[in-house]
Amino acid sequence: MSAPASVPYLPMTRPTIDDETIAGVGAGHEVITTPLSWVATSNVILEVGAKPVFVDIDPVTRNLDLDRVEAAITPATRAIIPVDLAGLPVDRDRLYAIAKKHNLRVVEDAAQSMGTTWQGQRIGGFGDFVSFSFHPNKNITTIEGGCLVMNTEAEAKLAEQYRLQGVVRSGFDGMEVEVVGGKFNLTDVAARVGLGQLPRLEEFNAKRRELARAYFDEFAAPGAAAAGLGLPVADFKQSNWHMFQVMLPAARLTLTRAEVMAKLHAAGVGSGVHYPPIHLFAIYRRLGWKEGDCPQAEAVGRSILTLPLFPTMARSDVTRVVNALVKILADHKKA
Ligand SMILES: *Cc1c(COP(=O)(O)O)cnc(C)c1O
Repeated sequence: MSAPASVPYLPMTRPTIDDETIAGVGAGHEVITTPLSWVATSNVILEVGAKPVFVDIDPVTRNLDLDRVEAAITPATRAIIPVDLAGLPVDRDRLYAIAKKHNLRVVEDAAQSMGTTWQGQRIGGFGDFVSFSFHPNKNITTIEGGCLVMNTEAEAKLAEQYRLQGVVRSGFDGMEVEVVGGKFNLTDVAARVGLGQLPRLEEFNAKRRELARAYFDEFAAPGAAAAGLGLPVADFKQSNWHMFQVMLPAARLTLTRAEVMAKLHAAGVGSGVHYPPIHLFAIYRRLGWKEGDCPQAEAVGRSILTLPLFPTMARSDVTRVVNALVKILADHKKA
């Protein structure tokens, strides 16, 4: 049963003091992030009682536009949460230069970029605070779960406390609770699934890269190129190709995106939308965000379409997907 509509939305604010949250972010603080992500990216900001500040994306990379970040920094800003959408890395050199200059934490939402690199270094192998997801749609999975990368023993210890009700055990019978924790522990079964997946990360990502190349080859063929689709950045060096996303040529079509998806579905091809811009969801509108605040993210959010891409996909599947999509677009072109 869902809550009655009359119950107002209340951000879940934990009774923490600033130095109790690992990144030092709490009530009264602002956190800069991208509007084009899974809503979890910004929900965590609300969860600690802080204010999300959405900065528009770069329509080419579809990631946070670093040219716009500094203008959004105020005395209340404490952190930046970048997202490597589809596995394409945000420029870490520029990102960390901005953070350093303004004394901000960087909380990397690297849920989509396990195995991605920046200038030869793995995401998570450097930087401030990095968060990975092992949800089944990610590049490796534990069914549910994830992992945090931190810099200091103190931060790691605090995370361990938050993980399970704040409990700290000592000796055979000692137990103390110093912070308000939750129930965020990874189960042993999930951990075992992850240990099976981890050694295969490179193999999975190599296969994804190969399939992404195949998409580019297929979309470059004369018939397909004429369809007018917008393609992602062709990065075969750093990206883990978590997703392959195209932009539909909306102005040239007599179909809506949902109709294109329905026709793909009828042709046996699954597709998805990642993502509708976060700032236009009701709970964020209630905080004052509105249409026009992030026009690039809104435009991308309207036309973006995620095509199938997973390691067990065959090369011939890519041809089938591209042919199906190109035919739908050709059959429903504006006169
Ligand atoms: C999947 C995802 C998350 C959430 O990960 P969970 O494991 O479901 O908590 C957060 N951010 C981004 C960008 C994601 O893709």
